[in-house]
Amino acid sequence: MIEIKNLYFSYGADFSLNIEKLVIPDKGLVSIIGPNGSGKSTLLRILAGLNKKYSGSVTLDDEEYELFRHEDMASRVAYIPVYAWPDNPVTVRQLILSGAYRYGGEADISEIADRCGLSEMTEKSIYEISSGEMKRVLIARALVQKTPVIVMDEPFANLDPYYEVKIMELIREIAREKLIIAAVHNVTIASIISNCMAGIKNGKLEFILSETPSEEILKALYGTDFILVNGHPSPDYFSTTS
Ligand code: ADP
Ligand code: MG
Repeated sequence: MIEIKNLYFSYGADFSLNIEKLVIPDKGLVSIIGPNGSGKSTLLRILAGLNKKYSGSVTLDDEEYELFRHEDMASRVAYIPVYAWPDNPVTVRQLILSGAYRYGGEADISEIADRCGLSEMTEKSIYEISSGEMKRVLIARALVQKTPVIVMDEPFANLDPYYEVKIMELIREIAREKLIIAAVHNVTIASIISNCMAGIKNGKLEFILSETPSEEILKALYGTDFILVNGHPSPDYFSTTS
């Protein structure tokens, strides 16, 4: 269980993250939603142990994040950034294997590559794959790390509809056995696959709900109208047609 109490972090005068209390269970998908610049990535980096310059308490299974050494963190939480394209032309296999560095860099990646639909491209250079494929490579690397928690920043960014659906299925499957905390912009996708949705605005936690937030709550969060499609909220794109 991850528990936040009186978390405060600031980049300076312009932005601060203030979360009084947030409890995140051991398994399932917790989606963090909220407008651009609301603090989602800032929160995720703290939860991944990459930013310790905060005040307050953040614990994982009752242990303070502040006390974790780098290798303790690597065995507990994997982090998938929005964008990662190494400067050197490694292969897909090598990049996936970099997730195994904490236990010597050796691992049989075949099952994980298969699960992520990457079996056919493990020998390709990462410069020869698409951004949707790269997303799956980064998920595979996180799975190779074998952590109980995976933090994903915008796993659905830059994906075409085919990969959106594929990654929805993959995340849903992983979330049966691990905790995934993901920043998600597509509220419809978040509503379909999340066990819990947390809304952040201006660095403050507005809500954390195990049911999908209402259209009114979403409008208050984003400032735009939402409608229900098949029981799930979607931005009201149709209002722009006249
Ligand atoms: P989100 O992921 O919700 O879009 P972020 O957590 O990336 O939001 O950013 C929250 C706010 O902090 C934004 O206003 C952003 O401009 C600012 N910010 C992000 N990173 C930095 C940084 N390294 N230095 C200063 N300000 C930053
Ligand atoms: Mg972000």
